[in-house]
Amino acid sequence: MIFHPARIGLLNKRALIRQLRKDGVASRAGLARALGMSQPTAGKIVDELLTQEILEEVEGAEANGDHATRLGRPGRQLQLNRSQPSFLGIQLGVSETRLAELPLGACDENDWHFSFHHDAAAANPAAAWEKQLRNVAKQLRSRKFLGVVLSVPGIVDESARRILFSPNIHWSESADLCAAIGKVWDAPVLLVQEERALALGYLTLHPDQEDFLLADFGEGVGGAVIFGGKPLMHPLPISGEFGHTPVLGNHRRCGCGAVGCVETLLSTSGLLKSFAAAHPRQTASWAALQKQLAENGVEPWLAQSLDAAAVALAAALNVLGLRRVVVTGNLTDLPPTVLEYFSGAIRGGAMWARFGEVECVSAPRNRTAGLVAVGIDRLILPEAEPKLSRGKNAATKLVK
Ligand SMILES: [Zn+2]
Repeated sequence: MIFHPARIGLLNKRALIRQLRKDGVASRAGLARALGMSQPTAGKIVDELLTQEILEEVEGAEANGDHATRLGRPGRQLQLNRSQPSFLGIQLGVSETRLAELPLGACDENDWHFSFHHDAAAANPAAAWEKQLRNVAKQLRSRKFLGVVLSVPGIVDESARRILFSPNIHWSESADLCAAIGKVWDAPVLLVQEERALALGYLTLHPDQEDFLLADFGEGVGGAVIFGGKPLMHPLPISGEFGHTPVLGNHRRCGCGAVGCVETLLSTSGLLKSFAAAHPRQTASWAALQKQLAENGVEPWLAQSLDAAAVALAAALNVLGLRRVVVTGNLTDLPPTVLEYFSGAIRGGAMWARFGEVECVSAPRNRTAGLVAVGIDRLILPEAEPKLSRGKNAATKLVK
C-alpha cells in the first residue's frame, strides 16, 4: 500500500491525539519518544494542533503532578483542549433529551447540565423537540461548536444519519433529527448509536482494552462490539442487539414488535415488573428492589432473567471470538452479588472459559467520552470511508 504524505500526516495526528488521551498531559519530547517520531516531526504536528485549538499548553509540574517532570525543568506541557467546549453532545432518551457542552480533553459524565422531557402528546413530536432544543440553545455558554454529536437508541444508519428502527422511540424513525439540530446550530451534525457511543467512551478511558463486547442495561438493553480498538464493521447497520434475543417461555411484548425479548426482562421497567410480580405486596421501586436483593441475594426470578441474557452474550462471545464483556447501566446499580452471578452465567456459556479466561467487568457509563471520540474521529481527523462496503441499498430496502 502506498501512503500519501497527507495520509501519513493524518495518521501521525491520530496517534498523537490517542497518546494524549491516554496520558492526559505530556511534553513534546515525551510524545515524540512514546510515538517513535523525531522531535521536529512531533513538534510540527503539535504546532498544527495548537493552531487548530485542539491542543493547549499548560504548566507541566502543576498540571499532572508527575514527579518525573518536577525533577526536571518544568517545561510547558500539552493536553487536549479542556478550556472551551468543542462539541455539543445530545442524548436522545426514551422520554428525555439531555445536552452537554463537551471539551476535547475533559470527559466528565456529570457534564449533562441541560435536559428536557419530550412532549409525547404533541401532534408533531419532532417539531416540539426542535422547539425545545431552541430553548436550551439560549442557555448554553457556547454558540459555536466544531460539531454536534447526537446519540440515539435503536437501529441506526450512522453514515446516512437515519434512524431506521427505534423500538422505544418510534416517533424518531420518521423525524430527521439531524436536520432539526442543523437548524438550531450552524455546525456539522453526527449521529451515533448509543451503545456504540458507550463502547467508544469505555475505550477512551481504557485504551489498552481493544477487544470487548459492551452490554448496557437501562431503558433498553443492547450492546456494541469493539475489535482492535475500533467499532466492529458489519454489512448491515445493525449489531450488538442481544437485547432482542427471544427468551423461551417469556411472553412479554417488546417495543420491537416481537414477544419474549431479553430486554423485556432486564430493562429497568422489565426488572421492576418482575420484582412486582414476585413481591406483590411491596412497592415496585428501584430502591425497594435494591434492598430486597441486598437482603436475599439473587432471587430465582432474577436468576432466570440473568441466565437468559447470559446465554445471548455467551453466544456472541463464541461467535465473534471475544473474551471480555463490559457491563454498564442498571445491573451495576444493584448489589454486587447480581454481577457476580451474571459473570458466572456468561462464563458458563462461553467456550473460551473452558480452558482460558473470560473477563466480565462492570463500568460506569461514559457517554460524553464516547461522543467526544466520535467527534474527533469523524470531524477533526476523519479517516477514509469505511473499507467494508455495505450491501447495496441495505438500508433503503426495508420492508415497512
Ligand atoms: Zn425486542
